[in-house]
Amino acid sequence: TQELHIVGGGMAGSEAAWQAANMGVRVVIHEMRPKVETFAHKTGNLGEMVCSNSFRSDDSEQNAVGLLHWEMRRAGGIIITTAHEHRLPAGGALAVDRDPFAETITRKLTSHPNISVSYEEVTELPTEGQWIIATGPLTSSKLGSAIQAETGSDALAFFDAIAPIVYTESINMDVAWLQSRYDKGETEAEQKAYLNCPMTKPQYEAFIDALLAADKTEFHEGETAGYFDGCLPIEVMAERGRETLRHGPMKPVGLTNANDPENKPYAVVQLRRDNALGTLYNIVGFQTKMKYGAQTEVFKMIPGLEDASFARLGGIHRNTFINSPTLLDNRLRMKSRPNVRFAGQITGVEGYVESASMGLVAGRMAAAEMLGLDLPDVPQDTAHGALIHHITGGAEAKTFQPMNVNFGLFRPLEGLRGGRRGRKDRYKGYTDRAKSDWQGWLEAQSLPISEA
Ligand code: FAD
Repeated sequence: TQELHIVGGGMAGSEAAWQAANMGVRVVIHEMRPKVETFAHKTGNLGEMVCSNSFRSDDSEQNAVGLLHWEMRRAGGIIITTAHEHRLPAGGALAVDRDPFAETITRKLTSHPNISVSYEEVTELPTEGQWIIATGPLTSSKLGSAIQAETGSDALAFFDAIAPIVYTESINMDVAWLQSRYDKGETEAEQKAYLNCPMTKPQYEAFIDALLAADKTEFHEGETAGYFDGCLPIEVMAERGRETLRHGPMKPVGLTNANDPENKPYAVVQLRRDNALGTLYNIVGFQTKMKYGAQTEVFKMIPGLEDASFARLGGIHRNTFINSPTLLDNRLRMKSRPNVRFAGQITGVEGYVESASMGLVAGRMAAAEMLGLDLPDVPQDTAHGALIHHITGGAEAKTFQPMNVNFGLFRPLEGLRGGRRGRKDRYKGYTDRAKSDWQGWLEAQSLPISEA
């Protein structure tokens, strides 16, 4: 009988193995640790958490990551159920005791009758058999090069220079306006592709001061090698000279403030649409190493963003990820090699929970294909479905950057808009819809459903 090979025993690989093995497929996990190390992992355990010990919010009614928890629990996910077994008190967040957590994951997987583990590095893209590549943000360089040889260098990133992403509904349009520089573009949509926030000279000077003073995180050793070409953090640009940003991403040329056409802005911050739904905008060129708390303070100084809420904050990290919108189909299969799936952070999702969730669906999809079972598409209005849809279809391929799960990825609900109460109702509406669709998806696969 055929085996499913999973490369990487982290969040995604562990979950994929568990799901497929429980469906009756024999699984081999190929894990390079402890023989080959990464700069972030400390042990040879499967399911090791590399940094924070938190799986974030466990609230499945008002929070998108909590909804992902709920969906994974229903599907008997190993990561989420083991996290609950090793839970530490942390308010509404799901924090865990990391070493016992990873030890339990390792024990559950290695004692599963359908799972074996081969402790070795995989260095090539496989040509035969069924595979899931779940090697994560710190994919070994040999395998990274092999993937790059197949996809082309534009389709594999080794770094993640993330500009902050803002919920469109939280931008003040009495201040900001829509316009592309020099009104470039054939259609009206192209001529209004950017959202612009104007700054006066005093506002710009205060902004530069705040950037220079803000708390920043350090780079890890070896993390910056070959990196800084064309992708400088904004605070580093500001350090090079107070005018550098005004001649770079904040240049005011080719733009007329529609809300105040008489006054020429001294500087302009531009935001670009980040998803097909138009619910998210990213701040162009604003990759940063500022700490999260500092970012929210500094970015709220931008006129029009005073009340901004952020779908994700900016960052710069070592992060290997592929351009999923061009490379993968909606079953997470490589279009050029359908026997190879990708799962986890390498697909362009971000976070422990998101990575595990992509492992969950990849494991089920691979097993179903091998067993000849008819597995319906993951419904788009579930948290898993919203993520898959984003990475394989909804996101702009050209500007594709890793994404956390968030309600901006969900299709709108009719008739629920506006205000704080409105938002609460809307989030409850999203989570109710998702739960019912996820339950339906699970029921369509004659597999046990957890009551958790
Ligand atoms: P991983 O969990 O990293 O698993 C990949 C596995 O593949 C590893 O065990 C690795 O050893 C193995 N591997 C790699 N290459 C090969 C190969 N060629 N052959 C065989 N095995 C291989 N997310 C959060 O939610 N919270 C955080 O605090 C957080 N902190 C992070 C800190 C750092 C430094 C980094 C790099 C990432 C962080 N992330 C964090 C992001 C991300 O969600 C986690 O890295 C998550 O573990 C990703 O899951 P994964 O399964 O895709 O990859």
